[in-house]
Amino acid sequence: MTSSITVNCPESLRAKNHKKKNKSIWSKGPWKKARDVWKVGKVCAWCGTDKHIVPHHSTDTDYGTDAYLHLTLCIPLCTKCHHALHKGLYLCPDCKTGYTSSGVCWNCLPQVEKDRHKAWKERTKKILKDFHKADYERQKAWRKKHIKAVTP
Ligand SMILES: [Zn+2]
Ligand SMILES: [Zn+2]
Ligand SMILES: [Zn+2]
Repeated sequence: MTSSITVNCPESLRAKNHKKKNKSIWSKGPWKKARDVWKVGKVCAWCGTDKHIVPHHSTDTDYGTDAYLHLTLCIPLCTKCHHALHKGLYLCPDCKTGYTSSGVCWNCLPQVEKDRHKAWKERTKKILKDFHKADYERQKAWRKKHIKAVTP
């Protein structure tokens, strides 16, 4: 499960209450300096690239403190993988380029699975359409009855 990691990460925390308190730490010198030093020689823990590495804090224990700037508990991820992680996805184990929330990514799915998924989507769409249509008919019938009742 990635949810505990996701919740504890600075980005999600930043979006919450710590906003003001930590703003300076994230946007100013010490943090940037620490991060730049830490970044050297790091590769993405997921896809292995050395481009656009960002630190993902796997714990919020030291959040907002000086210890946090040491980055010792951070996992190096590229911005793409980092973004995916925060969306609750992970790197596809097959192609190691796509992202998925379960199993393999869409591109790596066998055709039969893709077909199944498409069929399921179509079915859902149809059910919804029928539902809305029925709803609309009901409303129409109600209006007709109602208007009839008030107009002699
Ligand atoms: Zn990556
Ligand atoms: Zn993160
Ligand atoms: Zn894949």
